[in-house]
Amino acid sequence: MAGQVVIVGAGLAGLRAAEHLRAAGWDRAITVVGAEEHLPYNRPPLSKDLLVGGTGTAGAAEAHACAYRRSKSVADVRWRLGTPVVRASLRARSVTLADGTVLTYDGLVVATGLRPSRAAIPGPDFGRYVLRTLDDALRLRERLVPGCSVVVVGGGFIGCEVAATARTAGCEVTVVEAGAEPMERAIGPELGRVLRRHHEDNGVRFVTGRIVSELLSDGPCERVTGAVLDDGTAIPADLIVESVGSRPNVEWLDGNGLDLHDGVECDNWMRVEGLPGVVAAGDVARFPNPRYDDVPRRVEHWGVTGDTARRAAATLAAHLGVRSHDDGPFTPLPSFWSDQYGVRVQSYGAPALGDRCVLLDGGLDHPRALTGGVAMAYYRDRQMVGVVLAGIPASRHRHYRELVADATVPSRAWTPERPERGRASWPGDVGGRPPEVIRPLTV
Ligand SMILES: Cc1cc2nc3c(=O)[nH]c(=O)nc-3n(C[C@H](O)[C@H](O)[C@H](O)COP(=O)(O)OP(=O)(O)OC[C@H]3O[C@@H](n4cnc5c(N)ncnc54)[C@H](O)[C@@H]3O)c2cc1C
Repeated sequence: MAGQVVIVGAGLAGLRAAEHLRAAGWDRAITVVGAEEHLPYNRPPLSKDLLVGGTGTAGAAEAHACAYRRSKSVADVRWRLGTPVVRASLRARSVTLADGTVLTYDGLVVATGLRPSRAAIPGPDFGRYVLRTLDDALRLRERLVPGCSVVVVGGGFIGCEVAATARTAGCEVTVVEAGAEPMERAIGPELGRVLRRHHEDNGVRFVTGRIVSELLSDGPCERVTGAVLDDGTAIPADLIVESVGSRPNVEWLDGNGLDLHDGVECDNWMRVEGLPGVVAAGDVARFPNPRYDDVPRRVEHWGVTGDTARRAAATLAAHLGVRSHDDGPFTPLPSFWSDQYGVRVQSYGAPALGDRCVLLDGGLDHPRALTGGVAMAYYRDRQMVGVVLAGIPASRHRHYRELVADATVPSRAWTPERPERGRASWPGDVGGRPPEVIRPLTV
């Protein structure tokens, strides 16, 4: 049996990979290297509760409150925090840290997650924020005081959550979104429109189909005072939150001949192609899911991060000789949740793959549609690929989860060499009443 596993990235994927390696029987050395100073912590509260109701950037209490409880099995793991890995030589099986330390390994877990993309907007930096880390959240919340004007650039998932939280904190909020509706990519334009109304009912202003082309400043001290849109409209702002997507942290892997165009490409065992003993997990990993097809995709969801970490650890443990390698296909059902003004938006499956949608419950035109509850199914060809619920009681979630899980069961005959789509299905019995087709299938 070999000697050391190095995990690069001390986030959720890194922690869970360490715990699952221990559970799989790996009792030798594990070192986790993290760019941030913090032990692994939970990111979802950063755009929700943690952004309101507190002041002070010291953050010790918040870091403690968000920190994951670590299983006893990883008590002997070595944490190298605050020092990123800057280089890897995967053939020589070593990584180099920013302080010059070289760590050699027998097994490597790539778990470096994402960082926010930046919008190329000319103007001052002071008053311009992004949100990915605990430190980002603590900096931003200092400024989210009642009456403060906030322009959120990008109406995706994080942008919408920040808008809702800032509004709850008493800020004046405008969201500028280049597309037609908020969260359109994740939930489609129909539900996006309902979500937008929900924000507007809560006092958030939406400007869609426009981009921010310039930031205004107050001159000498270069503090943001507003945003100018591409049609020349100026919106006064005390601060700007950029929320225009994320980029995988992969630069440290450059020079190793890997396909890094959108994260790290893996096979269905989370093995980084062609490199025995190297696996990836979490937001950075691009892998095929036979529930859908054989196209490798990244999934930026909390739940899938744990699933991929478990799979990657099992694969690595087999490579290192502490368990047998007899796993079947890996078919996690993606799911994410988002909380906006007390309404939970819950997604199961991969709605973004759908090209048609069908209303399963609720009505899109009711004035307060989200509080009444809406369930929408998404189809690709004739297969249901995802469901999004908004304001639906938790007791009904399991029903919808099972609906989409059943519709995407991969064929038993699936192998990486002969990938085959999950079985087809068309609405059928979805909760006792006929479904309302919003964007119909052309059969
Ligand atoms: C604000 C926010 C809210 C969210 N809310 C939800 C939600 O409500 N529901 C949901 O399903 N999902 C949510 N998510 C997504 C979820 O948190 C992520 O899917 C999950 O955190 C991914 O974990 P990870 O370990 O892959 O990446 P990360 O948590 O990003 O961890 C990666 C770690 O690697 C470190 N790192 C990067 N480069 C290096 C390097 N070169 N060397 C060493 N370390 C490095 C990073 O600093 C980071 O600490 C949210 C994410 C954010 C940012």
